[in-house]
Amino acid sequence: MNITIFGSGYVGLVTGACLAEVGNHVVCVDVDPDKVALLNDGGVPIYEPGLEELLKSNREAGRLTFTTDAVAGVRHGLFQFIAVGTPPDEDGSADLQHVLAVAKTIGEQMDDYRIIVDKSTVPVGTADRVAEQVRTHLAARGVDVEFDVVSNPEFLKEGAAIEDFMRPDRIVVGTDNPRTGELLRALYAPFNRSHDRLMLMDVRSAELTKYAANAILATKISFMNELSNIAEALGADIERVRVGIGSDPRIGYQFIYPGCGYGGSCFPKDVRALIHSARSIGYDAELLSAVEAVNDRQKDVLFKKIDEYFGGQLAGRTVGLWGLSFKPNTDDMREASSRRLMEALWQAGARVQAFDPVAMDEARRLYGERPDLTLTPDALAAADGADALAIVTEWTQFRSPDFGQIRQLLKEPVVFDGRNVFDSRQAITAGLTYFSIGRTARR
Ligand code: NAD
Repeated sequence: MNITIFGSGYVGLVTGACLAEVGNHVVCVDVDPDKVALLNDGGVPIYEPGLEELLKSNREAGRLTFTTDAVAGVRHGLFQFIAVGTPPDEDGSADLQHVLAVAKTIGEQMDDYRIIVDKSTVPVGTADRVAEQVRTHLAARGVDVEFDVVSNPEFLKEGAAIEDFMRPDRIVVGTDNPRTGELLRALYAPFNRSHDRLMLMDVRSAELTKYAANAILATKISFMNELSNIAEALGADIERVRVGIGSDPRIGYQFIYPGCGYGGSCFPKDVRALIHSARSIGYDAELLSAVEAVNDRQKDVLFKKIDEYFGGQLAGRTVGLWGLSFKPNTDDMREASSRRLMEALWQAGARVQAFDPVAMDEARRLYGERPDLTLTPDALAAADGADALAIVTEWTQFRSPDFGQIRQLLKEPVVFDGRNVFDSRQAITAGLTYFSIGRTARR
Protein backbone atom coordinates (compact mmCIF):
# COMPACT_ATOMS: atom_id res chain seq x y z
CA MET A 1 0.00 0.00 0.00
CA ASN A 2 1.07 3.60 -0.47
CA ILE A 3 1.37 5.54 2.74
CA THR A 4 2.35 9.11 3.53
CA ILE A 5 3.36 10.18 7.00
CA PHE A 6 3.48 13.82 8.02
CA GLY A 7 5.97 14.39 10.83
CA SER A 8 9.30 12.56 11.16
CA GLY A 9 9.65 12.59 14.94
CA TYR A 10 9.49 9.67 17.37
CA VAL A 11 6.05 8.55 16.22
CA GLY A 12 6.32 9.36 12.52
CA LEU A 13 9.70 7.69 12.00
CA VAL A 14 8.79 4.56 13.92
CA THR A 15 5.44 4.29 12.13
CA GLY A 16 7.09 4.87 8.74
CA ALA A 17 9.90 2.39 9.34
CA CYS A 18 7.58 -0.35 10.64
CA LEU A 19 4.98 0.09 7.89
CA ALA A 20 7.75 -0.03 5.28
CA GLU A 21 9.29 -3.11 6.93
CA VAL A 22 6.14 -5.16 6.18
CA GLY A 23 6.22 -4.18 2.50
CA ASN A 24 4.39 -0.87 2.15
CA HIS A 25 5.74 2.10 0.21
CA VAL A 26 6.11 4.96 2.66
CA VAL A 27 6.87 8.62 2.05
CA CYS A 28 7.75 10.61 5.19
CA VAL A 29 7.15 14.36 4.95
CA ASP A 30 8.62 16.84 7.40
CA VAL A 31 8.81 20.63 7.39
CA ASP A 32 12.31 20.60 8.89
CA PRO A 33 14.75 20.55 5.93
CA ASP A 34 17.75 19.73 8.15
CA LYS A 35 15.99 16.68 9.55
CA VAL A 36 15.01 15.49 6.07
CA ALA A 37 18.57 16.04 4.76
CA LEU A 38 19.98 14.09 7.70
CA LEU A 39 17.55 11.22 7.10
CA ASN A 40 18.35 11.17 3.39
CA ASP A 41 22.07 11.00 4.27
CA GLY A 42 21.45 7.90 6.39
CA GLY A 43 21.40 9.75 9.72
CA VAL A 44 18.80 9.39 12.47
CA PRO A 45 17.69 12.52 14.34
CA ILE A 46 16.65 10.65 17.51
CA TYR A 47 17.93 7.76 19.59
CA GLU A 48 15.55 4.82 19.51
CA PRO A 49 16.84 1.23 19.80
CA GLY A 50 16.60 -0.64 16.48
CA LEU A 51 15.37 2.36 14.49
CA GLU A 52 18.61 3.09 12.61
CA GLU A 53 18.81 -0.44 11.16
CA LEU A 54 15.14 -0.43 10.17
CA LEU A 55 15.40 2.96 8.44
CA LYS A 56 18.54 1.89 6.60
CA SER A 57 17.26 -1.43 5.27
CA ASN A 58 13.93 -0.01 4.12
CA ARG A 59 15.53 3.06 2.54
CA GLU A 60 17.91 0.78 0.66
CA ALA A 61 15.02 -1.44 -0.41
CA GLY A 62 13.33 1.64 -1.91
CA ARG A 63 10.28 1.38 0.35
CA LEU A 64 10.99 4.44 2.48
CA THR A 65 11.76 7.99 1.38
CA PHE A 66 12.01 11.34 3.14
CA THR A 67 11.02 14.68 1.73
CA THR A 68 9.90 18.21 2.53
CA ASP A 69 7.61 18.10 -0.50
CA ALA A 70 4.12 17.97 1.02
CA VAL A 71 2.46 18.09 -2.41
CA ALA A 72 4.22 14.89 -3.45
CA GLY A 73 3.23 13.44 -0.08
CA VAL A 74 -0.48 14.12 -0.61
CA ARG A 75 -0.24 12.62 -4.10
CA HIS A 76 1.50 9.44 -2.88
CA GLY A 77 -0.53 7.85 -0.13
CA LEU A 78 -4.05 6.48 0.07
CA PHE A 79 -3.34 6.69 3.79
CA GLN A 80 -2.24 10.12 4.98
CA PHE A 81 -0.92 9.76 8.52
CA ILE A 82 -0.68 12.82 10.73
CA ALA A 83 2.14 12.31 13.27
CA VAL A 84 3.14 15.89 14.00
CA GLY A 85 3.65 17.40 17.45
CA THR A 86 0.78 18.63 19.60
CA PRO A 87 2.71 20.64 22.21
CA PRO A 88 0.99 22.29 25.15
CA ASP A 89 -0.36 25.78 24.59
CA GLU A 90 0.10 28.39 27.31
CA ASP A 91 -3.23 27.45 28.92
CA GLY A 92 -2.38 23.72 28.94
CA SER A 93 -4.58 22.86 25.96
CA ALA A 94 -3.10 20.90 23.05
CA ASP A 95 -1.77 23.23 20.35
CA LEU A 96 -3.29 21.90 17.12
CA GLN A 97 -1.58 24.28 14.69
CA HIS A 98 0.65 21.59 13.15
CA VAL A 99 -2.22 19.07 12.84
CA LEU A 100 -4.44 21.67 11.17
CA ALA A 101 -1.60 22.81 8.91
CA VAL A 102 -1.32 19.25 7.57
CA ALA A 103 -5.11 19.09 7.13
CA LYS A 104 -4.93 22.35 5.17
CA THR A 105 -2.18 20.99 2.89
CA ILE A 106 -4.18 17.83 2.24
CA GLY A 107 -7.31 19.86 1.46
CA GLU A 108 -5.34 22.12 -0.88
CA GLN A 109 -3.71 19.27 -2.79
CA MET A 110 -5.83 16.14 -2.84
CA ASP A 111 -7.56 15.04 -6.02
CA ASP A 112 -8.56 11.48 -5.09
CA TYR A 113 -10.06 9.64 -2.15
CA ARG A 114 -7.79 9.79 0.89
CA ILE A 115 -7.93 8.30 4.37
CA ILE A 116 -6.52 10.80 6.84
CA VAL A 117 -5.25 8.92 9.88
CA ASP A 118 -4.59 10.97 12.96
CA LYS A 119 -1.81 9.44 15.06
CA SER A 120 -0.96 12.59 16.96
CA THR A 121 -2.47 12.78 20.44
CA VAL A 122 -5.35 15.21 20.07
CA PRO A 123 -8.38 16.30 22.09
CA VAL A 124 -11.81 14.86 21.46
CA GLY A 125 -13.38 16.65 18.51
CA THR A 126 -10.12 17.14 16.57
CA ALA A 127 -11.10 14.72 13.79
CA ASP A 128 -14.13 16.93 13.16
CA ARG A 129 -11.86 19.98 12.98
CA VAL A 130 -9.48 18.21 10.58
CA ALA A 131 -12.44 17.22 8.36
CA GLU A 132 -13.75 20.77 8.44
CA GLN A 133 -10.35 22.15 7.44
CA VAL A 134 -10.03 19.71 4.52
CA ARG A 135 -13.61 20.42 3.40
CA THR A 136 -13.03 24.19 3.46
CA HIS A 137 -9.95 23.94 1.24
CA LEU A 138 -11.55 21.48 -1.14
CA ALA A 139 -14.54 23.83 -1.48
CA ALA A 140 -12.23 26.81 -2.11
CA ARG A 141 -10.80 24.89 -5.08
CA GLY A 142 -14.23 23.77 -6.25
CA VAL A 143 -13.12 20.15 -5.93
CA ASP A 144 -15.49 17.45 -4.74
CA VAL A 145 -13.66 14.31 -3.59
CA GLU A 146 -14.41 11.94 -0.77
CA PHE A 147 -12.20 11.50 2.26
CA ASP A 148 -12.36 9.99 5.74
CA VAL A 149 -10.71 11.08 8.95
CA VAL A 150 -9.75 8.27 11.31
CA SER A 151 -8.46 8.49 14.86
CA ASN A 152 -5.64 5.99 15.38
CA PRO A 153 -3.81 7.06 18.54
CA GLU A 154 -0.30 5.74 19.10
CA PHE A 155 0.66 3.89 22.29
CA LEU A 156 4.36 3.23 21.66
CA LYS A 157 6.82 3.85 24.47
CA GLU A 158 10.02 5.71 23.66
CA GLY A 159 12.93 3.33 24.24
CA ALA A 160 10.83 0.32 23.17
CA ALA A 161 9.00 1.94 20.27
CA ILE A 162 9.81 -0.53 17.50
CA GLU A 163 8.84 -3.52 19.64
CA ASP A 164 5.64 -1.74 20.71
CA PHE A 165 4.69 -0.97 17.11
CA MET A 166 5.54 -4.44 15.81
CA ARG A 167 3.76 -6.24 18.68
CA PRO A 168 1.17 -3.82 19.98
CA ASP A 169 -1.02 -4.43 23.03
CA ARG A 170 -3.85 -2.86 21.08
CA ILE A 171 -4.52 -1.00 17.86
CA VAL A 172 -7.25 1.55 18.40
CA VAL A 173 -9.11 2.68 15.29
CA GLY A 174 -11.84 5.26 15.60
CA THR A 175 -14.05 5.64 12.55
CA ASP A 176 -17.74 5.89 11.78
CA ASN A 177 -17.25 4.34 8.34
CA PRO A 178 -17.15 0.49 8.39
CA ARG A 179 -15.41 0.32 5.00
CA THR A 180 -12.59 2.56 6.25
CA GLY A 181 -12.36 0.41 9.38
CA GLU A 182 -11.77 -2.63 7.16
CA LEU A 183 -9.06 -0.82 5.17
CA LEU A 184 -7.27 0.03 8.43
CA ARG A 185 -7.66 -3.59 9.53
CA ALA A 186 -5.95 -4.70 6.31
CA LEU A 187 -3.15 -2.14 6.79
CA TYR A 188 -2.50 -3.36 10.33
CA ALA A 189 -2.95 -7.09 9.60
CA PRO A 190 0.83 -7.81 9.69
CA PHE A 191 0.95 -6.43 13.26
CA ASN A 192 -2.22 -8.21 14.35
CA ARG A 193 -1.52 -11.86 13.67
CA SER A 194 -1.52 -13.96 16.86
CA HIS A 195 -4.91 -12.73 18.06
CA ASP A 196 -7.10 -9.79 17.18
CA ARG A 197 -5.91 -6.68 18.96
CA LEU A 198 -7.58 -4.15 16.69
CA MET A 199 -10.35 -2.29 18.45
CA LEU A 200 -12.80 -0.51 16.23
CA MET A 201 -14.74 2.26 17.91
CA ASP A 202 -16.26 5.66 17.26
CA VAL A 203 -13.88 8.54 16.62
CA ARG A 204 -14.44 10.42 19.88
CA SER A 205 -13.91 7.34 22.05
CA ALA A 206 -10.67 6.59 20.20
CA GLU A 207 -9.44 10.15 20.76
CA LEU A 208 -10.25 9.95 24.46
CA THR A 209 -8.71 6.47 24.87
CA LYS A 210 -5.22 7.87 24.34
CA TYR A 211 -5.65 10.54 27.03
CA ALA A 212 -7.26 8.04 29.37
CA ALA A 213 -4.29 5.66 29.01
CA ASN A 214 -1.70 8.34 29.74
CA ALA A 215 -3.77 9.83 32.55
CA ILE A 216 -4.08 6.55 34.42
CA LEU A 217 -0.35 5.85 34.05
CA ALA A 218 0.48 9.32 35.34
CA THR A 219 -1.97 8.76 38.19
CA LYS A 220 -0.19 5.56 39.23
CA ILE A 221 3.12 7.42 39.35
CA SER A 222 1.79 10.37 41.31
CA PHE A 223 -0.01 8.02 43.70
CA MET A 224 3.25 6.21 44.46
CA ASN A 225 5.14 9.46 44.81
CA GLU A 226 2.54 10.80 47.22
CA LEU A 227 2.84 7.59 49.26
CA SER A 228 6.63 7.70 49.13
CA ASN A 229 6.64 11.11 50.83
CA ILE A 230 4.27 9.82 53.49
CA ALA A 231 6.36 6.65 53.94
CA GLU A 232 9.56 8.62 54.32
CA ALA A 233 8.09 10.93 56.95
CA LEU A 234 6.61 8.00 58.87
CA GLY A 235 9.80 5.93 58.80
CA ALA A 236 8.46 3.25 56.42
CA ASP A 237 10.23 1.95 53.30
CA ILE A 238 8.23 2.61 50.12
CA GLU A 239 10.07 -0.18 48.28
CA ARG A 240 8.71 -2.73 50.78
CA VAL A 241 5.27 -1.15 50.46
CA ARG A 242 5.52 -1.34 46.67
CA VAL A 243 6.25 -5.05 46.74
CA GLY A 244 3.50 -5.55 49.30
CA ILE A 245 0.79 -3.90 47.23
CA GLY A 246 2.01 -5.13 43.84
CA SER A 247 1.41 -8.74 44.86
CA ASP A 248 -2.32 -8.06 44.62
CA PRO A 249 -3.13 -8.83 40.96
CA ARG A 250 -5.73 -6.08 40.97
CA ILE A 251 -2.87 -3.63 41.59
CA GLY A 252 0.07 -5.38 39.91
CA TYR A 253 3.78 -4.59 39.98
CA GLN A 254 3.90 -2.54 36.80
CA PHE A 255 4.31 1.21 36.89
CA ILE A 256 4.28 1.64 40.66
CA TYR A 257 7.86 2.78 41.09
CA PRO A 258 8.43 5.85 43.23
CA GLY A 259 10.77 8.51 41.86
CA CYS A 260 11.51 12.17 41.28
CA GLY A 261 8.54 12.79 39.00
CA TYR A 262 7.44 11.88 35.50
CA GLY A 263 8.54 13.87 32.44
CA GLY A 264 8.70 13.31 28.72
CA SER A 265 6.70 14.65 25.86
CA CYS A 266 3.47 12.84 26.72
CA PHE A 267 2.35 12.45 30.35
CA PRO A 268 2.75 16.09 31.45
CA LYS A 269 1.18 17.60 28.36
CA ASP A 270 -1.57 15.00 28.01
CA VAL A 271 -2.69 15.26 31.63
CA ARG A 272 -2.80 19.05 31.26
CA ALA A 273 -4.67 18.83 27.96
CA LEU A 274 -7.27 16.49 29.46
CA ILE A 275 -7.77 18.84 32.43
CA HIS A 276 -8.23 21.64 29.92
CA SER A 277 -10.69 19.64 27.79
CA ALA A 278 -12.73 18.85 30.91
CA ARG A 279 -12.72 22.52 31.93
CA SER A 280 -13.93 23.54 28.48
CA ILE A 281 -17.13 21.59 29.09
CA GLY A 282 -17.49 22.94 32.63
CA TYR A 283 -16.07 19.93 34.46
CA ASP A 284 -13.39 20.35 37.11
CA ALA A 285 -11.10 17.30 36.81
CA GLU A 286 -9.97 17.34 40.44
CA LEU A 287 -8.14 14.01 40.44
CA LEU A 288 -6.15 14.91 37.32
CA SER A 289 -5.26 18.32 38.73
CA ALA A 290 -3.90 16.59 41.84
CA VAL A 291 -1.89 14.15 39.68
CA GLU A 292 -0.30 17.13 37.96
CA ALA A 293 0.30 19.06 41.23
CA VAL A 294 1.87 16.04 42.97
CA ASN A 295 4.19 15.52 40.01
CA ASP A 296 5.19 19.14 39.94
CA ARG A 297 6.09 19.00 43.63
CA GLN A 298 7.92 15.70 43.20
CA LYS A 299 10.21 17.16 40.57
CA ASP A 300 11.63 19.44 43.31
CA VAL A 301 12.19 16.65 45.84
CA LEU A 302 15.83 15.96 44.96
CA PHE A 303 16.75 19.63 44.93
CA LYS A 304 15.13 20.12 48.34
CA LYS A 305 17.05 17.19 49.80
CA ILE A 306 20.34 18.47 48.38
CA ASP A 307 19.67 22.03 49.51
CA GLU A 308 18.73 20.87 53.01
CA TYR A 309 21.80 18.67 53.29
CA PHE A 310 24.07 21.59 52.46
CA GLY A 311 22.16 23.97 54.75
CA GLY A 312 21.03 26.16 51.86
CA GLN A 313 24.68 26.86 50.93
CA LEU A 314 24.88 25.59 47.37
CA ALA A 315 26.78 28.47 45.79
CA GLY A 316 30.14 27.27 44.55
CA ARG A 317 29.28 23.58 45.06
CA THR A 318 29.43 21.00 42.29
CA VAL A 319 26.79 18.31 41.90
CA GLY A 320 27.49 15.22 39.79
CA LEU A 321 24.43 14.10 37.84
CA TRP A 322 23.70 10.65 36.43
CA GLY A 323 21.01 10.70 33.78
CA LEU A 324 19.63 13.51 31.64
CA SER A 325 16.90 11.84 29.57
CA PHE A 326 13.40 11.66 31.05
CA LYS A 327 13.68 7.87 31.20
CA PRO A 328 16.22 5.22 30.12
CA ASN A 329 16.77 4.16 26.50
CA THR A 330 15.90 7.50 24.97
CA ASP A 331 17.65 10.81 24.38
CA ASP A 332 14.41 12.72 24.91
CA MET A 333 14.78 15.44 27.55
CA ARG A 334 11.36 17.07 27.13
CA GLU A 335 10.09 17.95 30.64
CA ALA A 336 12.80 15.70 32.12
CA SER A 337 13.29 15.81 35.90
CA SER A 338 17.02 16.37 35.25
CA ARG A 339 16.24 19.77 33.74
CA ARG A 340 14.27 20.91 36.74
CA LEU A 341 17.07 19.80 39.06
CA MET A 342 19.87 21.35 37.01
CA GLU A 343 18.03 24.63 36.63
CA ALA A 344 17.34 24.82 40.38
CA LEU A 345 20.98 24.05 41.14
CA TRP A 346 22.19 26.73 38.74
CA GLN A 347 19.75 29.19 40.26
CA ALA A 348 21.27 28.43 43.66
CA GLY A 349 24.78 29.08 42.29
CA ALA A 350 25.92 25.44 42.00
CA ARG A 351 27.67 23.77 39.09
CA VAL A 352 26.61 20.51 37.47
CA GLN A 353 28.78 17.84 35.89
CA ALA A 354 26.53 15.40 34.14
CA PHE A 355 26.63 12.13 32.27
CA ASP A 356 23.97 10.31 30.24
CA PRO A 357 24.59 7.31 27.95
CA VAL A 358 22.72 8.85 24.99
CA ALA A 359 21.30 12.31 25.80
CA MET A 360 24.54 14.33 25.85
CA ASP A 361 23.98 15.83 22.40
CA GLU A 362 20.44 16.75 23.35
CA ALA A 363 21.72 18.46 26.52
CA ARG A 364 24.26 20.37 24.41
CA ARG A 365 21.49 21.39 22.01
CA LEU A 366 19.26 22.57 24.84
CA TYR A 367 21.79 24.38 27.04
CA GLY A 368 24.76 25.11 24.75
CA GLU A 369 28.10 26.00 26.31
CA ARG A 370 27.76 27.33 29.84
CA PRO A 371 30.30 27.58 32.63
CA ASP A 372 28.08 25.85 35.20
CA LEU A 373 27.53 22.69 33.10
CA THR A 374 30.18 20.11 32.24
CA LEU A 375 29.21 17.05 30.26
CA THR A 376 31.56 14.24 31.22
CA PRO A 377 32.73 11.27 29.12
CA ASP A 378 31.48 8.67 31.61
CA ALA A 379 29.54 8.23 34.85
CA LEU A 380 32.56 8.13 37.15
CA ALA A 381 33.91 11.36 35.70
CA ALA A 382 30.62 13.03 36.66
CA ALA A 383 31.23 12.04 40.28
CA ASP A 384 34.90 13.03 40.22
CA GLY A 385 35.51 15.95 42.58
CA ALA A 386 31.79 16.66 43.03
CA ASP A 387 30.34 17.64 46.40
CA ALA A 388 27.46 15.20 45.89
CA LEU A 389 26.06 12.79 43.34
CA ALA A 390 22.43 12.88 42.17
CA ILE A 391 20.71 10.17 40.08
CA VAL A 392 17.67 11.14 38.02
CA THR A 393 17.42 8.48 35.29
CA GLU A 394 17.42 4.75 36.05
CA TRP A 395 19.74 3.64 33.25
CA THR A 396 20.71 -0.03 33.76
CA GLN A 397 24.39 0.84 33.73
CA PHE A 398 24.00 2.94 36.89
CA ARG A 399 22.58 0.10 38.96
CA SER A 400 25.64 -1.63 40.24
CA PRO A 401 28.61 0.73 40.38
CA ASP A 402 31.80 0.38 42.38
CA PHE A 403 30.57 2.14 45.51
CA GLY A 404 34.08 2.37 46.99
CA GLN A 405 35.28 4.21 43.90
CA ILE A 406 32.35 6.61 44.03
CA ARG A 407 33.12 7.34 47.68
CA GLN A 408 36.73 8.11 46.79
CA LEU A 409 35.85 10.30 43.82
CA LEU A 410 33.28 12.43 45.63
CA LYS A 411 34.53 15.30 47.77
CA GLU A 412 31.76 14.48 50.18
CA PRO A 413 30.45 10.88 50.01
CA VAL A 414 26.77 11.72 49.64
CA VAL A 415 24.34 10.37 47.03
CA PHE A 416 20.80 11.58 46.27
CA ASP A 417 19.08 8.82 44.36
CA GLY A 418 15.89 10.04 42.67
CA ARG A 419 14.99 6.61 41.23
CA ASN A 420 15.92 4.22 44.08
CA VAL A 421 18.48 2.65 41.79
CA PHE A 422 20.81 1.49 44.56
CA ASP A 423 20.34 -1.11 47.22
CA SER A 424 20.42 1.20 50.23
CA ARG A 425 22.19 -1.29 52.49
CA GLN A 426 25.01 -1.77 49.98
CA ALA A 427 25.42 1.95 49.46
CA ILE A 428 25.52 2.66 53.19
CA THR A 429 27.85 -0.25 53.96
CA ALA A 430 30.22 1.18 51.34
CA GLY A 431 30.40 4.36 53.40
CA LEU A 432 28.06 6.56 51.41
CA THR A 433 25.51 8.87 52.93
CA TYR A 434 22.50 7.81 50.93
CA PHE A 435 19.25 9.65 50.34
CA SER A 436 16.54 8.14 48.17
CA ILE A 437 12.80 8.39 47.59
CA GLY A 438 10.41 7.15 50.26
CA ARG A 439 13.10 5.48 52.33
CA THR A 440 14.44 7.10 55.48
CA ALA A 441 17.93 8.48 54.91
CA ARG A 442 20.55 6.30 56.51
CA ARG A 443 24.25 6.68 57.03
P1 NAD B 1 8.18 15.14 17.53
O1 NAD B 1 8.23 16.52 18.05
O2 NAD B 1 9.31 14.20 17.82
O3 NAD B 1 8.01 15.17 15.93
C1 NAD B 1 7.08 15.94 15.27
C2 NAD B 1 7.61 16.22 13.87
O4 NAD B 1 6.57 16.86 13.11
C3 NAD B 1 8.80 17.17 13.81
O5 NAD B 1 9.86 16.55 13.09
C4 NAD B 1 8.27 18.40 13.07
O6 NAD B 1 9.25 19.05 12.27
C5 NAD B 1 7.19 17.79 12.22
N1 NAD B 1 6.16 18.72 11.71
C6 NAD B 1 5.59 19.79 12.32
N2 NAD B 1 4.69 20.36 11.50
C7 NAD B 1 4.67 19.63 10.36
C8 NAD B 1 3.94 19.72 9.14
N3 NAD B 1 3.02 20.67 8.95
N4 NAD B 1 4.19 18.81 8.17
C9 NAD B 1 5.11 17.83 8.36
N5 NAD B 1 5.83 17.71 9.50
C10 NAD B 1 5.62 18.59 10.48
O7 NAD B 1 6.80 14.53 18.04
P2 NAD B 1 6.50 13.01 18.51
O8 NAD B 1 7.12 12.75 19.84
O9 NAD B 1 6.77 12.10 17.38
O10 NAD B 1 4.92 13.12 18.75
C11 NAD B 1 4.01 13.29 17.68
C12 NAD B 1 2.60 13.11 18.22
O11 NAD B 1 2.44 11.76 18.70
C13 NAD B 1 2.25 14.00 19.39
O12 NAD B 1 0.90 14.33 19.34
C14 NAD B 1 2.50 13.11 20.60
O13 NAD B 1 1.73 13.48 21.73
C15 NAD B 1 2.07 11.76 20.07
N6 NAD B 1 2.71 10.61 20.71
C16 NAD B 1 4.02 10.66 21.05
C17 NAD B 1 4.61 9.55 21.64
C18 NAD B 1 6.06 9.59 22.05
O14 NAD B 1 6.46 8.71 22.82
N7 NAD B 1 6.86 10.53 21.58
C19 NAD B 1 3.87 8.39 21.88
C20 NAD B 1 2.52 8.38 21.49
C21 NAD B 1 1.95 9.50 20.91
